[in-house]
Amino acid sequence: MLNKTKVVVTIGPATMEKEQIKRLMVGGMDVARLNMSHANYNFCKDVIEKIQELNEELHLSIATMIDLMGPEVRTGKFANGEAYFRKGDKIRIYMDDITGDSTKFSVNYSGLIKDVSYNNIIKVKDGMMSFLVIDKKDDCIICEVLTDGTIENNQTVSVEGIKLNLPKMNNKDETDIIFAHKMNVDFLALSYVCTQEDVLAVSDILIGLKNDHIGIISKIETEEGVNNLDEIIRVSDGIMVARGDLGVDIPIERIPGVQKKIIEKCHKAGIVSIVATELLSSMEKTVRPTRAEVSDVANAVLDGADAVMLSNETTVGKYPIETLGMMEKIINSAEKDIDYLEFIKNKESNTMDITSMISHSVVECASKLNCCAIIAPTMSGYTARKMSNCRPSCPVIAVSPNESTVKSLQLHFAVNPVLINDLKDFDKIIEVSKKVTFELISTQPGDRIIITGGYPFKAVKSTNFMKIEEL
Ligand code: PGA
Ligand code: MN
Repeated sequence: MLNKTKVVVTIGPATMEKEQIKRLMVGGMDVARLNMSHANYNFCKDVIEKIQELNEELHLSIATMIDLMGPEVRTGKFANGEAYFRKGDKIRIYMDDITGDSTKFSVNYSGLIKDVSYNNIIKVKDGMMSFLVIDKKDDCIICEVLTDGTIENNQTVSVEGIKLNLPKMNNKDETDIIFAHKMNVDFLALSYVCTQEDVLAVSDILIGLKNDHIGIISKIETEEGVNNLDEIIRVSDGIMVARGDLGVDIPIERIPGVQKKIIEKCHKAGIVSIVATELLSSMEKTVRPTRAEVSDVANAVLDGADAVMLSNETTVGKYPIETLGMMEKIINSAEKDIDYLEFIKNKESNTMDITSMISHSVVECASKLNCCAIIAPTMSGYTARKMSNCRPSCPVIAVSPNESTVKSLQLHFAVNPVLINDLKDFDKIIEVSKKVTFELISTQPGDRIIITGGYPFKAVKSTNFMKIEEL
């Protein structure tokens, strides 16, 4: 299955073994995500090294993403890893690190006690559990439990209608960015991005590290982020619709509309979009998803997302491999329902440069002539990104000798990036590119392919030719 919509898979305890990672890589994972709210450096290093080894073994270029914790409050640890809270009970929330049970727990943000007032509602676990603030002592907040339920270690904490005074850039995020740089990770996802400055603060650190290849994905998970979308898009390489936390900060029923708006804006700006969280949630426990979840994945594809993401389904779920398989099947089917011709007809070129013009024509030809592949040798990935943005009906095989270019294209719709050896001769590049393409797709006599690129290969920056071949 050579699907066009990409899949980001979060790696966790359920998928950390090499054999599991291999099955995910073969099964369609394009980017492996490590969530710094849960993963430690040893875990990340181990997973990243396994992916590197497997990339070589399987001749793949699966990319890696480090997702920063961001300004986030989380619960501490519980005696048995979890505790049950009963509606109506009075419990204590401590600012110091204590071991929790069903009468108390701690949070990792000492300022919470200052930020909350009487009658505020503290939400835990993406809003699943609510606690009403009834009193404050020197070292703890006293609350009444409003909902029955279980809380596990390290769950999210927020306060309804209140913006907490958390520092913008915390020490952990800064150290994690340096770690991501050292590990040569391909994407950095920034949690709780609210303004352009939030992104620029990270860019500054990356400039300081002389890292010019890591892609920045801004996660929109607050109302403020939604309101400042345009300015955030201008400084990001991609946007994640982080529906988990977003659904706590804004009324949950607004999510579908916000998702469509974010994807559309990303299209216009020419950057990638990722739809995240709970796409196949029920598969954490059962081997078949609900009809509603199947529709959710399909609708993300039809909305025009570049990528969809798996989180708990693959970190702690019982059926991670089956979940990815199901996701690929739904994507494959949904992509057949995309009206590619309508899309390219309505797509205006946002710039008048030659690459944009050729990319538009290539994609239009590919869709109208029902071509089976677009072959695009590329140095920087610019051509492939432009074509992806026009939503081609067939895969774009982007062949490059540059490893970071290849990996940077793993989130782009329809782009199949392939790493080749550095070749000097133009004819040789085309020959190798075609060979790679025919290994990836099965063709029949009469099938058409489009070859596009810049000639001479390394001397020109823009794409300046297209050639249609009938096999
Ligand atoms: P998280 O982000 O998994 O890091 O919380 C995604 C989301 O909030 O949806
Ligand atoms: Mn989140």
